[in-house]
Amino acid sequence: MQTVIRSILGGALLGVLTLGVGLAAMFGWEQAGFALDPWVALAGTVGGVCLMGTLAGLTMARALRGVKAELADDSTTGRGVGPRWIRPVLAAIAEHQVRHQQAQAAWRTRQRDLEIRAHVAESGRLQAEAVLEVMDEAVLVCNTLLEVVHVNHAAACLLGLDASTAVGRPISDVVADAGLRRIVSSTLEAGPDTDPARGELTLSAGAAACEVVSACAADRAGRTTAVVTVLHDLTREQEISQMKSEFVSKASHELRTPLSSMRAYVEMLVDGEASDEAARQEFYGIIQSETERLSRLVDNMLNISRIEAGIIEVDRVAVDVEELVDRAVQTIEPQARAKQIDVHTEVAPVGTVVQGDADMLQQVVINLLSNAVKYTPEGGRVTVAVDSDTLTRSVHVAVSDTGLGISARDADHVFEKFFRVENYKRVAKGTGLGLNLCRHIIETVHRGQIGLESTLGMGSRFWFSIPMGRVPARAAA
Ligand code: ADP
Repeated sequence: MQTVIRSILGGALLGVLTLGVGLAAMFGWEQAGFALDPWVALAGTVGGVCLMGTLAGLTMARALRGVKAELADDSTTGRGVGPRWIRPVLAAIAEHQVRHQQAQAAWRTRQRDLEIRAHVAESGRLQAEAVLEVMDEAVLVCNTLLEVVHVNHAAACLLGLDASTAVGRPISDVVADAGLRRIVSSTLEAGPDTDPARGELTLSAGAAACEVVSACAADRAGRTTAVVTVLHDLTREQEISQMKSEFVSKASHELRTPLSSMRAYVEMLVDGEASDEAARQEFYGIIQSETERLSRLVDNMLNISRIEAGIIEVDRVAVDVEELVDRAVQTIEPQARAKQIDVHTEVAPVGTVVQGDADMLQQVVINLLSNAVKYTPEGGRVTVAVDSDTLTRSVHVAVSDTGLGISARDADHVFEKFFRVENYKRVAKGTGLGLNLCRHIIETVHRGQIGLESTLGMGSRFWFSIPMGRVPARAAA
């Protein structure tokens, strides 16, 4: 700083001296007897001052160019560079520059840090939103002003809202159900330190029963930031529990029928009501057939529940459907012959090998054939056709009969558990589970399709198709 002051004083002194010398020379010159035009002398003096100023300016400019070059170098300290008089200025500027660079670097680091945090927060938000979207549970998030912040797809469906227009609006404008609005606002009032509010609602929107859990989300300081409400739709669970109780009541009814029959005949035998051997044999026969029916019922129930639970063991091998059909026809022959029913097979000369469980598929064909014989009057005709479709790469089996046929109304239910056409209960004994098991075996186990075409009084055509499988090495050998 001192050097700067000294330089300024030196420059000023030099100027004053130059001016003084000029004036002195001008007056001295005049006193020495030389005539002098004062204006010319003044012009000469000013010209001298200007010349000196120009020279000083040039020197200054050179020095500043050096300073500029020096300052362009980030690593400079500014010391020992340029003319002596400018070095302190240069050092001060360099020091300032270093401080500025450090501040700039710190600011850039902070900016990067903020950018990373913003990126992490954004991806966290998107992730949370994606999780909420795929959840089966309905989730509704409101801020502390009770405005909707997020509503996932399940909640939009359950509450009958349009998620895109609901966000940002007060819950009172968006949610029609007063009970739900009450739960959310009381949760907000209770704050984050209380247990989540729970309740059960029957939503007015879709008359869906649901369980509601609502809680406050809080920041680190324990301040409420949002109210998160989860709605669990109970409709499906109620349907399942109703189906379960229906199944239990139907199963017990079906089990009770053969059991009561067996019990009655056993009691008659014990009481000696069968007076002769022929009557006893008849009773034994009935008890035997009821026992078989009971065991078939239990087997079917077990198989269906194993398939539904996904725990059935499937022995997948290459199965030639033509051979399988031949064996099934042989099994059913005695039953058909007893009713003079002609069982006829039509097999297309194409590949009929599928990848599947031979025993299960055989059971399907036997069930369909057995039904066709049971529900076809004496002298009728049953046809089994086997074909394959190269386009869909599947084998198609159809069992047609000239029997009683099924009305369109009943046809919609024949594959349901325990369904039996009311009028045919006297025609033949059954469990009402055979076709349901067939559907499970074809659709669930073999990823195929099963169906029915029928006209009441004209006969029925039950069919199924299953994808052809590649012949595994073990089976092909
Ligand atoms: P079931 O052991 O009673 O035969 P299924 O599940 O196999 O049980 O069949 C359900 C019901 O569908 C039968 O009780 C019968 O009323 C009807 N049904 C099945 N097959 C035929 C058919 N080929 N013709 C007429 N009715 C049939």
